[in-house]
Amino acid sequence: MQISEELIRSVVSQVLSEVRRAPVVAGPRFTGRYGIFSCVDEAVAAARDAFEQLSERSLEDRKRIIEIIRQISISQCVELGTMEMHETKIGRLVHKIEKLKTLGERTPGVEFLRSEVFSGDHGLAVIEHAPFGVIGAITPVTHSLPTLTGNAISMIAGGNTLVVNPHPSGKKVAAEGVKRFNQALLKEIGIDNLICIIAEPTLESANAIFKHRGINMICVTGGPAVARAALNSGKRAVVAGPGNPPVVVDETADLDRAARSIIRGASYDNNLLCIAEKEVFVVNSVFDKMMAAMEAAGAVRLQSREVDALTKAAMIQVGEGEHRHDAPSKDFLGQDAAVLAKAAGRSVSDKTELLFGETDLSNPFITVEQMMPFVPFVRVKDVDEGLQRAKEAEHGFRHTSIIHSHNVRNMTNMGRIMDTTLFVKNGPCMASLGLGGEGYLSFSIAGPTGEGVTTPLTFTRERRCSMIDDLRILGRPARTH
Ligand code: NAD
Repeated sequence: MQISEELIRSVVSQVLSEVRRAPVVAGPRFTGRYGIFSCVDEAVAAARDAFEQLSERSLEDRKRIIEIIRQISISQCVELGTMEMHETKIGRLVHKIEKLKTLGERTPGVEFLRSEVFSGDHGLAVIEHAPFGVIGAITPVTHSLPTLTGNAISMIAGGNTLVVNPHPSGKKVAAEGVKRFNQALLKEIGIDNLICIIAEPTLESANAIFKHRGINMICVTGGPAVARAALNSGKRAVVAGPGNPPVVVDETADLDRAARSIIRGASYDNNLLCIAEKEVFVVNSVFDKMMAAMEAAGAVRLQSREVDALTKAAMIQVGEGEHRHDAPSKDFLGQDAAVLAKAAGRSVSDKTELLFGETDLSNPFITVEQMMPFVPFVRVKDVDEGLQRAKEAEHGFRHTSIIHSHNVRNMTNMGRIMDTTLFVKNGPCMASLGLGGEGYLSFSIAGPTGEGVTTPLTFTRERRCSMIDDLRILGRPARTH
């Protein structure tokens, strides 16, 4: 039987069109790994494959991907939050669970993307927000899977894929989350490895990500060392660095509200939040009333010798020579108030959320980003001294500062002096992330590089598309070409 060329062409074209219509179910090389890698080169290659597949998909598919990540984060928050608590051994279980649920619900997604248009005599210019490509993300132990989840939502909503180097003490829960996300995404969308993770992370693997030619952008969330390393990487970096948020309380404040706010913010997850209230400066005229308000709101006040005992146990010296400095002891960082109280020689109920006490300015709890549910209170003669002390305690990180006041001039002065990315008035720190206040949520707040509370737009590049002299449908064009 003779087969005509025309028949062959028609069969081939039919097969090709069916292949094109079929969902893409496999990346070329790494499908079935569910994002888990031991080698940085392989992780970056898999994330690149996934990026190329994602780039061929619609915005509707992207929305569906974000929806799947949200659903897992919300519906599995108890199991994954419990895993995070068991692995990291810092913070509070109820908040580990809540953080995953809240991030799943409230991290901005694809709806946050927008285009801008310039329309005029010479036609139209449309500015769109395109992905960078593969992003290298470094995440902290204080919120291992939550930071990864928030980063994944923002970065994928922007059209990117990511390779994560988690903190070694939170690597298992991070890898478990990545596996669950990718398994569901492969099943539902047909793309694996949208989120890749280094299962055994080290400083070397972090540095390999920083230097890798296949990584288009870096986002680090962590303390001073990793912030410096990212800034020196030579790559475009979004740096969510450390803070030491001070609180000022002046004589016009609603002291009961201030006390409730400080307890809520400073005790959350045992003070692991980078935005959490870390030290409080209260003007002398209301200092004693403020201490009474804290007790009335449920915090436990330590006496001076108890504060001394806690400081001796919980603050240690690290580093050598001129780099020697105070630091929180790992035995107390993120531990419950009852554990800290015991070290202070005091027995308190397991339900106690926060300890506090009067200290002088030399106490290391003021200067160190301590991440413990004990907050030092310092008496200052007036609000100006409070603002000055707050400025010193914040070390110029320009991260977060808080005031309780009804004096607009004092609020304005503090905003100007502190120059912080987040400045909260009359509420707990988390209200600045849309949790009880206005705005939106992210666990990567980029102060040093200036992006602020990160969103999908943070992880995009602007591209401009210009139509010259046409497509503006109003009036007469000024034809110059
Ligand atoms: P960390 O700095 O010890 O570690 C953060 C991450 O960086 C980890 O994955 C760690 O392995 C890695 N890392 C540390 N040093 C590095 C180096 N030299 N090179 C490459 N990688 C390095 O911090 P942590 O204890 O995990 O987290 C708490 C810190 O993170 C606090 O300082 C807190 O303020 C900060 N933080 C900031 C934000 C923010 O949005 N700005 C959010 C959460 C936490």
